[in-house]
Amino acid sequence: MPSVDEGLNQMTVPRITIQGNQDGPTLLIIAGIHGDEYESIEAVHRLAEMVDQSALVGKVVLVPIANRPAFSRQSRIGDDALDLARTFPGHAEGTSTQQIAFELTRLIEEADFLIDLHTGGQALEIAPLVGYMLVADQTVLDRQRRMAQAFGLPIIWGTTPQLEGRSLSAARDAGVTAIYAEWGGGGGCQQAGVEAYIAGCLRVLAAIEMLPGHVESQEERPFVVEDDREQSGHLQRNYPSPHAGLYRALIDLQASVLPGDELGYLLDVDTLQKTVIRSSQSGQLITRRILPAVNPGDCLAVILENAELQ
Ligand SMILES: [Zn+2]
Repeated sequence: MPSVDEGLNQMTVPRITIQGNQDGPTLLIIAGIHGDEYESIEAVHRLAEMVDQSALVGKVVLVPIANRPAFSRQSRIGDDALDLARTFPGHAEGTSTQQIAFELTRLIEEADFLIDLHTGGQALEIAPLVGYMLVADQTVLDRQRRMAQAFGLPIIWGTTPQLEGRSLSAARDAGVTAIYAEWGGGGGCQQAGVEAYIAGCLRVLAAIEMLPGHVESQEERPFVVEDDREQSGHLQRNYPSPHAGLYRALIDLQASVLPGDELGYLLDVDTLQKTVIRSSQSGQLITRRILPAVNPGDCLAVILENAELQ
């Protein structure tokens, strides 16, 4: 049976450890860095019952809800209004979010491999994708590429290693091989996303030879983009809302778009003026806002440009 260290609700970062019978590497799987991303949270709870301890080489550490304060508030962030995914490496004596980041950084430093699972949360819907930083260490980068392939989602996105504050930046600094994933959102818990995340983690365990078995990715030909431009991979900076209002997305996820295409419109609820939000890029829509109420600067869309294909 997996061991639940000290009682899950007694720890800054509650975790479940599954120690295999043979020594080997440590894989850390984190969900709930944002408290309203339920597919990943359910997937990691279910993984605790699915990893075959008797066949496991090494150790799996599962963090099903990294951000308990945010989860309790049914929110992306906790009471201190800090985004945990911008707070790494954190502070031991800081606010609750800074303390969680500090503790997670320790867990990352103790691991060999990291998978960080997300969704669009209540506000956004994101096309299934798996990503990594284009780190300078070629050995780590090649391992990240293989992990991403094994995870088996339709889009693989390598982005700049220069973003700070993330679990992936803590992993980069510690030389830990790391990927993250996104799947859906909307504040519910779509079972297709849960299943995709469980299957992806189990395929990665096989790919890094911690569990026996073949790696049969569901995606024979994923759409692979590697883009190391500054701010690539920074979801929240794309198509910021020009003002507050009511937003309605007009096109589906994974649709192809061209410059000038209508992505949605924003209604000013005081003047009843409509502002059409148009694409300035050519590519694939990978994120759209689905929570209608928006504040100035909220992300309305992300387009993955048809950059260099691998
Ligand atoms: Zn997230």
